[in-house]
Amino acid sequence: MTKTPTLTRTSRGKRYPRVLGSLGGVRPGPTFVVIGGIHGNEPGGAEAVLRVVEALRELEPSFRGRFLGLAGNLAALECRRRYLDQDLNRVWAAESVASLRAQEPERDSFEQKEQRELIAVLDDLLDKHDDVLVLDLHSSSAAGAPFSCMGDTIRNRRIAFALPIPVILGLEEAIDGGFLDWVYRRGHVAVAVEGGRHGEVRTVENLESALWLSLVAAGCLLANEVPDIELHRRRLSNATAGIPSVIEIRHREKLVLEDTFEMVGDREYRSFDVVHKGTLVARRNGRDVLAPETGRLLLPLYQGQGSDGFFIGRRVRPFWLALSKWLRRIRFSRTLLLLLPGVHRHPTLPDAFVVDPRIARTKPVEVFHLLGFRRRRWEDGKLVFTRRNEGTPRVL
Ligand SMILES: [Zn+2]
Repeated sequence: MTKTPTLTRTSRGKRYPRVLGSLGGVRPGPTFVVIGGIHGNEPGGAEAVLRVVEALRELEPSFRGRFLGLAGNLAALECRRRYLDQDLNRVWAAESVASLRAQEPERDSFEQKEQRELIAVLDDLLDKHDDVLVLDLHSSSAAGAPFSCMGDTIRNRRIAFALPIPVILGLEEAIDGGFLDWVYRRGHVAVAVEGGRHGEVRTVENLESALWLSLVAAGCLLANEVPDIELHRRRLSNATAGIPSVIEIRHREKLVLEDTFEMVGDREYRSFDVVHKGTLVARRNGRDVLAPETGRLLLPLYQGQGSDGFFIGRRVRPFWLALSKWLRRIRFSRTLLLLLPGVHRHPTLPDAFVVDPRIARTKPVEVFHLLGFRRRRWEDGKLVFTRRNEGTPRVL
């Protein structure tokens, strides 16, 4: 374990080093990367990593693989702001990364400087190792139970489903240019965990528990090597009691920079609160926003910065998950899709389908979701569906 530099407090936030801790195991295994505080007003993630780093340093377990704990947006963490120039969790689309690589470093914005440093730390590691797992720790402006989200691939499911917290499908895909997107594109496993409200002690505790259990799920540690493993399991199970184990995003209230937005209600909403279709939930640019469908409210926005007002999700029953897993394993899933009326292969993009909504009489969205095609956009009056690359089979 490398020594963590001394942390100095500033008037607002805390100054974190980029590398919060690292460990090179003597035994073979995956490369486990955890990042906290990619949003500067979410230091809970970095604190959770520091707790685990401290414990690993004391325990000196026979770690399988390698461990790397990182802090995300150092400048914003010091100012306790989500970001300074740009959201560091929205700048990882292929074009953005390519233009950053081509840009002179002197021209970098605050976040581009952070991004350049993160790329420098991770580039080689993502290239040279087959089995990298990235855990991305967050907190939110609203209260509510912890949960995980991920690009819906079978390999990501394996880690996310091992944690006793709800898995939200379609949330990660709703975000353009997310950090995990970059990791997926490199063919690795990546899962994000939301621990609860910013600044609460239990948020740090939830994130710490999720990190320990992920290390076990990844095979880096055995359950009996983690002190208080049962406490970590119980803590997360208790925090999420009564919430469906898998929820799929049905609606995203996307905001643009100029929007004014506030949640409206006789009390503050929490993530996972049930809202009914037609209920007044927010006000945007002075206009009422009604819930477009009945479901679970997620990540209602109670802070100034942010590009999503709220999300609404709905329970996914285990049968559909099992069916989708099976369908993805069989070789004919793509051929089956082409049997649907109005569905064609995309002329240029691999693993993409074009749906003509005038011809497709069935509900194509549901069918495509089931097979992991959760990203859609319009192209010449037709819907184009794409999905996360499952990547080449790896250890994880
Ligand atoms: Zn965040």
